[in-house]
Amino acid sequence: GLVLGIESSCDDTGVAVVRACDGAILGQAIANQVDIHAPWGGVVPKLAQEAHEAAMDSTVTSALQQAGVHAADLEAVAVTVGPGLSLCLKVGVQKARQLAAAHGLKYVAVHHMEAHALVVRASAPVTFPFLCLLVSGGHNLLVIVHGVGRYSLLGSTLDDAVGEAYDKVARLLGLELRPSGGAAVEALALEGDEQRFKFSMPLRQRPNCNFSYAGLKTAVRLAIEAEAPGPATEDNRQVRADIAASFQRVALAHLEERTRRAAAWALDSEPAIRHLVVAGGVAANKLLRSKLQGVAEEMGLDLVVPAPQLCTDNGVMVAWAGVERLALGLWEHLPASSQDNAWVDVRPRWPLTDQRDSRSLSEP
Ligand code: ATP
Ligand code: FE
Repeated sequence: GLVLGIESSCDDTGVAVVRACDGAILGQAIANQVDIHAPWGGVVPKLAQEAHEAAMDSTVTSALQQAGVHAADLEAVAVTVGPGLSLCLKVGVQKARQLAAAHGLKYVAVHHMEAHALVVRASAPVTFPFLCLLVSGGHNLLVIVHGVGRYSLLGSTLDDAVGEAYDKVARLLGLELRPSGGAAVEALALEGDEQRFKFSMPLRQRPNCNFSYAGLKTAVRLAIEAEAPGPATEDNRQVRADIAASFQRVALAHLEERTRRAAAWALDSEPAIRHLVVAGGVAANKLLRSKLQGVAEEMGLDLVVPAPQLCTDNGVMVAWAGVERLALGLWEHLPASSQDNAWVDVRPRWPLTDQRDSRSLSEP
């Protein structure tokens, strides 16, 4: 069957149609809100909700049209129910429930980070259990993925996520935030000297798998205030590039060090692990990919990373998580009356490891 996936947890309205039997992407559409939030220095929930509402119907229509199907031809609708911004999640959930109830489709509630973690399996033969580094705008996690809904947490961030740090640095450097702050910092860093600023490595005295980016963020802000104050100009371009490169060197070395340790821990408890999967928006970063390639080789693992456009938020990952959950019977039937139900169940704060409905599943 075909699964429609809907993502609206933050500032992207993403919709896709994925074929369950082989993971083929038959249609996909995405509406981005970067320009709406840029003047505000962050995502404004109310504006994001309005933008999702304005974009939702046409984005669904466009994905269905590309796939050449009607909603009634689908087997299921999968939607991100959390974690994320409540106002935004509700727009997607409402649309998904309407579609499912109106056409008698199966309804699959999806965890946003599970979708990031699993999407690579749509196109690559990655088997459970695998080690996963999840790096995005709001999360920084190292987990063992034992199966759908079954995760062991090895480490997470004590403060900010690395994607958030990239976004902040992009803003401080006066960069264009499109397509993302992270991509802009990565591009500018190519022109810079990564050794010019000696930012210190976070959590050097803590030999565990946790992360911290608040200190690095502050150090970068102070460097910019001292060396390149005021607006970005051609005159201070080199120093800004040096700061970007120096930030990136430390930000990625921190990920690399923690991932190496996590791989050792993970292989210790789960010798069957064969793959290191990196997912979430920051996984689009080319330098991160090459550094983790080294870690994977050292540890005897295969590095697997989704295509860059599947790293940042999109509907495909939600549809694919839906495919995986459908195969395990983890779906709901919605009564036709629930179309008009104004009440929608979203889970704005939802730890990846808290999935009671799946915990009882047997090993695949
Ligand atoms: P979460 O998934 O935690 O809810 P999110 O959905 O907002 O957060 P994603 O869309 O998964 O985050 O990822 C977006 C993040 O990825 C942003 O912080 C962005 O700056 C970062 N990012 C995107 N491309 C790159 C890149 N090439 N290098 C570094 N960071 C990047
Ligand atoms: Fe995300």
